[in-house]
Amino acid sequence: MTKALEMKNASAGAASPGIRVTQVVAKLIDTSTCIGCKACEVACQEWNDLPPETTVNLGTYQTLPDMTPHVWNLIRFNEVEEGGTLHWLMRKDQCMHCADPGCLKACPAPAAIVQYENGIVDFQQENCIGCGYCISGCPFNVPKLSAQTKKVYKCTLCVDRVSVGLEPACIKACPTSCLQFGTKENLLLKAQKRVDQLKASGFTTAGIYDPGGVGGTGVVSILAFADKPQAYGLPADPTVPWTVELWKQPLKWIGNLAILGGIIGTFIHYLRYGPKHAPPDGKVPRANAGGKQ
Ligand code: SF4
Ligand code: SF4
Repeated sequence: MTKALEMKNASAGAASPGIRVTQVVAKLIDTSTCIGCKACEVACQEWNDLPPETTVNLGTYQTLPDMTPHVWNLIRFNEVEEGGTLHWLMRKDQCMHCADPGCLKACPAPAAIVQYENGIVDFQQENCIGCGYCISGCPFNVPKLSAQTKKVYKCTLCVDRVSVGLEPACIKACPTSCLQFGTKENLLLKAQKRVDQLKASGFTTAGIYDPGGVGGTGVVSILAFADKPQAYGLPADPTVPWTVELWKQPLKWIGNLAILGGIIGTFIHYLRYGPKHAPPDGKVPRANAGGKQ
């Protein structure tokens, strides 16, 4: 089903861009109307046929301390005191589907990570070599390596549903509509309206989390306290780690130099020996079978 989507980018340079112009899709999370019911967690497990995981009691309603290879969607419960008032800041944690994905940049395996024209970043486990480089490339600490399969897993943004015109399973399950799906352009307009409402209700620092350091994200969040994304467990200014940028750039240059060297070598050879001619008798010389002549 995912074959219906055009590929924009792939790890280790394994894709060439398609020619169709596709609109970038996104998921909008309004953290101010999330009630922490975890219907999205259940829907994700069920749709993706993920096995159950033993929950951990953290002293809050949070299911687990972190996402796992079998849990790609986790509601984080954060208690934060602000202006003498205790706020319960719930946030749906998952892959952010970065426009400039550090995981894809870091991955050395051809097409183990692909980015479709609609912005979805997807892992192709059959091509994954289990090196874990994507984990160090992700500024949101999302990909999880399975000890059993030695493959990495994360949210696919329900690419199988989206590619046939359905919304992601978590969106369908959300009872408060704090999760919405659509084109990123439309969702940003909706998000801005909600931010204006929040500001009018006294949340003066309300805003949209769509960090520019990773080119923007396919998961956009409305935060009542946008000046403190860390309170929600989000990095303030996520970027692709410099180590990933550094080792990718020299490798690219080494490859380009090798190609250039080949072209120059061919040219020099031509200047020195001229074009290759067929032998006058028309016979093709036989290769030396290995014996001395
Ligand atoms: S572990 Fe991550 S970086 Fe390594 S091949 Fe698999 S997807 Fe790519
Ligand atoms: S959040 Fe991490 S895993 Fe998801 S696309 Fe961004 S870099 Fe990749």
